[in-house]
Amino acid sequence: MMTPEDFRRHGREVIDWIADYMEQVDTYPVLSQVEPGAVRAMLPGSPPETGEAFEDILADVNRVILPGVTHWQSPNFFGYFPANSSPPSVLGELLAAGLGVQGMLWTTSPACTELEQHVLDWLIEMLDLPDRFRSDGTGGGVIQDTASSASLCALLAACYRDREDLSHDTRRKGINAWQVAYTSDQAHSSIEKAMMITGMGTDRLRVIESDGQWRMRADLLAQQMQTDARHGLKPTFVCATVGTTSSGAIDPVPEIAQICREHGAWLHVDAAMAGTAALCPEFREMHEGLEWADSYAFNPHKWMFVNFDCDCFYVADRKPLLQALSVLPDYLRNRASQSGDVVDFRDWQIPLGRRFRALKLWFVIRSLGASDLRDRVRQHVDWASQLESWIREDDDFELAAPRSLNLVCFRHVGGDELNQRLLDTLNDSGDLFLTHTRLDDRMTLRMSVAQTTTELVHVERAWAAIRGTAAELM
Ligand code: PLP
Repeated sequence: MMTPEDFRRHGREVIDWIADYMEQVDTYPVLSQVEPGAVRAMLPGSPPETGEAFEDILADVNRVILPGVTHWQSPNFFGYFPANSSPPSVLGELLAAGLGVQGMLWTTSPACTELEQHVLDWLIEMLDLPDRFRSDGTGGGVIQDTASSASLCALLAACYRDREDLSHDTRRKGINAWQVAYTSDQAHSSIEKAMMITGMGTDRLRVIESDGQWRMRADLLAQQMQTDARHGLKPTFVCATVGTTSSGAIDPVPEIAQICREHGAWLHVDAAMAGTAALCPEFREMHEGLEWADSYAFNPHKWMFVNFDCDCFYVADRKPLLQALSVLPDYLRNRASQSGDVVDFRDWQIPLGRRFRALKLWFVIRSLGASDLRDRVRQHVDWASQLESWIREDDDFELAAPRSLNLVCFRHVGGDELNQRLLDTLNDSGDLFLTHTRLDDRMTLRMSVAQTTTELVHVERAWAAIRGTAAELM
């Protein structure tokens, strides 16, 4: 086993390696250029029987691993959604690993639970979220691994809250056959997956059409709920999206919330990427109506400089969530839990075990401060808006959707085939990385501007490469 002395030495080497990586990440091809199977082909067929020198392991990180990495932290990464990280976040993560805490119960590490509660309350203040999500009322926040898990937990809580027939014991008999859920045709695929996981099945997910700007149509939601109710079904759960994955559309949460109230349905708001923008008061309009939501989630691991994984999930009333997720085997009983004075976060999530994720969030918030976080988000939005104006001015390109915060969707006017070739050529070049979606049934390029080291110059260069490559392909 490595001695603490060796650990010190190699730890410094690894930190140096990471710092060098941070400095040089823009020199690597953004999208990994390896062929399928190439990484495995460089690995020995069997594990080593005896331990190897740490120097050799680190050398293989350079030789084997690095070529097979797509560089999400590159300033030229504009694909999917950001997964921006930062040095304080990496150090918080390292400390969490060093402490090796498993925070399933308050008693298994009180600091793990209490720091998490505290930092999630801080975020309520920083993002001006409704007070009903605070931990000192009926609700509270918890860190989940991802927004997908948050949606699944919200769906479960909704099903457990909604027991019209009180004789039905959901824990023993499962979710009622008459409970149905709703979301828009632009919602993230994790909602469909949550329906599959709960066993409700996707037939019981009503996919509501979106309008010309990809926002859920509240009128159609109301109609569908009325139809379902007439047929003896119970509208149980609605997921509205603030910042859809494809185009960043923002569903009309106030209208949706009103409809949910009429039917007693649970409203979950998924703001996985866009939520971070609420750090800045000028973008908080997108959270209009959130005061009526039963739950809300956003991912600091997308846009708030906290490395993956870190999703913040809030509920206005924690009782149904606990009803859905707490089971108490004898071996987990302890005095603190039984006193009722503490929170055991194992009851707020699917797995039992949990990492000390709050450390990295705390490190980032303390190290950058709210004002620097706001400035960075503002810059990203500003650069995306400059990109939007360049696209508007160029006759060969068009905007495919209104810009949403840091996300710009556009296409070349030359049609799907040209846009596909443009995307492939740009990504194969390794100079930048973009992804695509389909809007209006047309191939659409997406550029999401929010990596930690991205500056205006990278956006300018990317736009020059897009225009130049398109001209060559014509
Ligand atoms: N919800 C929305 C709106 C998203 O854009 C995404 C990611 O693209 C997700 C959920 C899924 O996020 P996660 O990977 O945290 O589950």
